[in-house]
Amino acid sequence: MQLLMMWLHSMMSSSGILSIDLPAIQSNWHYVASTLAVNTECAAVVKANAYGVGATQVVGALYQRGCRNFFVVTLDEALDLRKILPSDASLFVLGGLKEGSESLFIDFDLTPVLYSLRAISRWLDFCDTQNVSIPCALKLDTGMTRLGMSLDDLDHFFKEIVHRRSLNPVLFMSHLACADERAHPLNNLQLTRFKNAASKIKAYFPNIKLSLANSSGVFLGSEYHFDMVRIGAALYGINPQRDQVNPLSSTIYLKLPVLQIRELGVPVSVGYGAVGQAGAGSRLAVVAGGYADGIHRTLGLEPIGQIEGVEVSAIGRVSMDSCVFDISSSPNAFPNYIDVINSNLTLDSLIAKNKSLGYEVLTSLGSRYKREYLPIGPNHD
Ligand SMILES: *Cc1c(COP(=O)(O)O)cnc(C)c1O
Repeated sequence: MQLLMMWLHSMMSSSGILSIDLPAIQSNWHYVASTLAVNTECAAVVKANAYGVGATQVVGALYQRGCRNFFVVTLDEALDLRKILPSDASLFVLGGLKEGSESLFIDFDLTPVLYSLRAISRWLDFCDTQNVSIPCALKLDTGMTRLGMSLDDLDHFFKEIVHRRSLNPVLFMSHLACADERAHPLNNLQLTRFKNAASKIKAYFPNIKLSLANSSGVFLGSEYHFDMVRIGAALYGINPQRDQVNPLSSTIYLKLPVLQIRELGVPVSVGYGAVGQAGAGSRLAVVAGGYADGIHRTLGLEPIGQIEGVEVSAIGRVSMDSCVFDISSSPNAFPNYIDVINSNLTLDSLIAKNKSLGYEVLTSLGSRYKREYLPIGPNHD
């Protein structure tokens, strides 16, 4: 019944269909987890609605597969996920602590990632007023120059803050800037800085866990793994190391519905600016999906697609809600859909063709697309 409804829905849809292979996301998580030492945890970063894919579904699937540590950025993201996550899962909030939200972190069992001396002090002041010592994470900047205590801040932290009674840091972390470029010298420099700082903090908190690597960082080698890695992009199958064969599975498929077929008797121009030129006898398909759906970011300025495996190219400028493909080469004269992401047109191939970033492609997948989730099976572990 559910499948029938899904099928009917797809038949009637006038927006793109984004299919998300939850079992493949689970197996990507499991693949990365299986490359780690037994005691190293594989946390999932599911900020920005799991990179646009759907945080509720992704988190449910990963929890079922065994993931127990999740990272989001905003408090709102965390509150949404806390509702569905059992209490044995930890939820870390990377965006830190806004003044006034301290009690929500405590009430909903969220762990703030504290990255400035001010925020650390404020958190400890609040804990003092409540007479509690709640777990927090501390973030060091080792070379990314984004959120994080500077090395000078860390000196100050050891002089002024580390002795405070309400301080209960469970995780000490930093973030790599160039992990997708194996040979970049900053990787090793960040690793050294992190190790130095970690050994100091371990002197005060011997059980604190350490975490440095994102998806690409995992593939730099085991010395980058520490106690926890934090993977986002790898879950969706984006190649973690540019120059290597991708060991991960594809997870995302996108097809755009054909709204109108045009058979041309005479040559015409296509779309805004009349920059596209179609010859007499061409067959055009107008499909739903335009720059309001992130097509520019996802597919580039000159989208290509496939109809039953036959490649077709867009013609003319992409509009807000639609774009036009020349489907003259397609044996099927009346296709219902044009595939634009499939097992041949992969995220990796789009990234390479458009010189874009996998992260941008994922997070620009439009909100109008119907998201369909391939169901997860029972866990056999
Ligand atoms: C987004 C983010 C990650 C995940 O990065 P990926 O490259 O997607 O694996 C890890 N850590 C922090 C601090 C992040 O902001």
